[in-house]
Amino acid sequence: MGQLAGKTAVVTGGTTGIGLAAARRLAEEGAHVFVTGRREAELDAAVKEIGADATGVQGDVSDLADLDRLYRVVAERGRPVDVLFANAGGGSFATLEQVTEEHFDETFAINVKGLLFTVQKALPLLADGASIILTSSTTATTGVEAFGVYAASKAAVRSFARTWANELRGRGIRVNAITPGPIDTPGITGLAADEEQAHQLRGSLASQVPLGRMGHPDEVANAVLFLATPASSFTTGSNLYVDGGANQV
Ligand code: NAP
Repeated sequence: MGQLAGKTAVVTGGTTGIGLAAARRLAEEGAHVFVTGRREAELDAAVKEIGADATGVQGDVSDLADLDRLYRVVAERGRPVDVLFANAGGGSFATLEQVTEEHFDETFAINVKGLLFTVQKALPLLADGASIILTSSTTATTGVEAFGVYAASKAAVRSFARTWANELRGRGIRVNAITPGPIDTPGITGLAADEEQAHQLRGSLASQVPLGRMGHPDEVANAVLFLATPASSFTTGSNLYVDGGANQV
């Protein structure tokens, strides 16, 4: 019997990278997993990869109507949500001088507004004792040049974990942030203009990590599983780093 047998999980941004690895891991442990993403082809491929215990719901987390549709599909299955991994997110480079209103709005719409309403709209469906996990980033507490808007959005995510842990404790719902360092995903390589630049970016990121390499999405998925299960029953409002020591030493 898996650790999550009979449980239901929702993973936003579950079609590639960290979200897909986590969805796979949660399904391996017996959960039925709802995954979301905007791109239909990636969604279909992810559902196929996760297997019988997955349902794909196409949608954009920054679109509140899409979130309503997601939770209608989840509700139709008739089971409460035990694990919510609010993970959809992303960013792009712009220095303070280069930031446009569009850059700011897009980043905050997905990483902050989208994440907030992903959790708010899940509240009626969450089981008492559920676990909510929010994806922050090590950039939230460093000063990576040209990543200021993204970093600020991820600092907001870490902050939400504190407030919501307090607000939801009466229902026994735990809320934690997970903070990946550089993880080798399409999201990271997508920051580079071409394969050559992506290679350089990987090398540069790995060189800043005490363990000397980028992380694998499965390493974040294992940490998500820990926060999703009673193994972490006394952990709430916290921030679990999966960063190879990048922000630690
Ligand atoms: P990724 O491979 O690009 O995955 C991002 C996922 O989110 C995809 O499934 C993507 O699918 C989905 N997504 C993006 N915007 C969305 C939206 N508006 N609505 C719904 N789904 C959306 O990137 P990743 O590296 O795994 O990133 C996952 C999370 O980890 C993000 O929050 C990211 O900021 C965070 N993070 C990543 C790293 C890293 O080094 N990789 C480090 C720290 C934090 P669609 O594009 O099809 O929508």
